[in-house]
Amino acid sequence: MELLPEFEIRQPKTAEEAVALGAEADARYIGGGTDFVPNLRRGLETPSTVVDLSEVSEMQQIEETENGLKIGASVSLQQLISNELVIKQYALLAQAAETIAGTTHRQSATVGGNLCLDTRCQFYNQSEWWRKSNNYCLKYRGDICHVAPQGDICRAAYSGDLAPAMMVYGAKVELVSAAGKRVIDLKDMYQEDGANYLLLNPGELLVAVIIERLDGYNTEYRKVRVRGGVDFPLVGVAVAAKSNAGKLEDIRIALTGTNSRPVFVEGAEESFGKPVDEETIKALVKLVRVQSKPMRSTFTPGSYRSKVVVNVARRLINQLL
Ligand SMILES: Cc1cc2nc3c(=O)[nH]c(=O)nc-3n(C[C@H](O)[C@H](O)[C@H](O)COP(=O)(O)OP(=O)(O)OC[C@H]3O[C@@H](n4cnc5c(N)ncnc54)[C@H](O)[C@@H]3O)c2cc1C
Ligand code: SF4
Repeated sequence: MELLPEFEIRQPKTAEEAVALGAEADARYIGGGTDFVPNLRRGLETPSTVVDLSEVSEMQQIEETENGLKIGASVSLQQLISNELVIKQYALLAQAAETIAGTTHRQSATVGGNLCLDTRCQFYNQSEWWRKSNNYCLKYRGDICHVAPQGDICRAAYSGDLAPAMMVYGAKVELVSAAGKRVIDLKDMYQEDGANYLLLNPGELLVAVIIERLDGYNTEYRKVRVRGGVDFPLVGVAVAAKSNAGKLEDIRIALTGTNSRPVFVEGAEESFGKPVDEETIKALVKLVRVQSKPMRSTFTPGSYRSKVVVNVARRLINQLL
């Protein structure tokens, strides 16, 4: 058993205080700690200060807005799943949250922690001893990527379940740092680099997620995993679709587990207004095939996950339209 590194824990009461502490060198935020603490134990995190967000009450609310919801980043997954509005009007979100980890994890795991979840790889989520025996890897301390040795970026898989669900609800995120507040689309918070998957400024805090209500849409989240009970997604697909008089009005498809970022599938608007037929569905499925890029970062081969994501997306699109 490895020893935890030395660090100081701070418990701010406001987001402003949290941001001031988060701006310190090597400071790291902690939500529920269900991913951060295992990573600390494995020597993957070596913070000087850990900023615990659990006392910041302004980040623990779920508020109704004019056309949707504002969800504080410190809302726990269990709170999200049991919220009446979420159950009634954002079923896909509750459905995705319910698949995350186990019942006890969800009591402390937070929305913010899930959206900022570190990418995962079979060569990285290992003990220090294991990683050292393999000369580490590009993501941390090493020189090459064992998954794609010819490449120069990390291909670890983003595996959070909430991000694709939030994306189909048009999610925006409220971010605060010493430089001030900004609101951006959730999809723009990520990039295709497993070692630097978040486009956050140093010390930037995710304070809330803002989503819009989807009236008249059919929605579904489907996750494929090795163990049915408690497991990260090999592939997760969220779809919200709306059609009228046999024509496609809108469809939003988002994926997890396939790339180093959650993928909001681009280009679906080319099919809006077209009849809901085989040709349209084929065009949508092609977008999923082209934009998903599963690699050898999990024990299940990338080629298998490519087939799975395409088939899950096809079934969902057919079912919802
Ligand atoms: C056995 C097991 C199974 C799991 N299965 C799943 C699964 O199926 N699906 C899944 O999605 N996850 C899974 N997880 C991972 C984890 O439990 C969840 O992703 C959880 O939602 C993470 O939330 P947290 O609050 O505990 O995050 P933490 O561990 O506290 O933090 C995660 C990361 O987010 C950062 N962070 C936290 N809050 C903020 C904020 N407000 N602003 C900026 N950065 C922040 C932290 O610095 C850290 O880098 C599993 C974990 C375990 C141990
Ligand atoms: S994808 Fe490559 S660089 Fe990234 S964690 Fe895995 S082995 Fe390391």
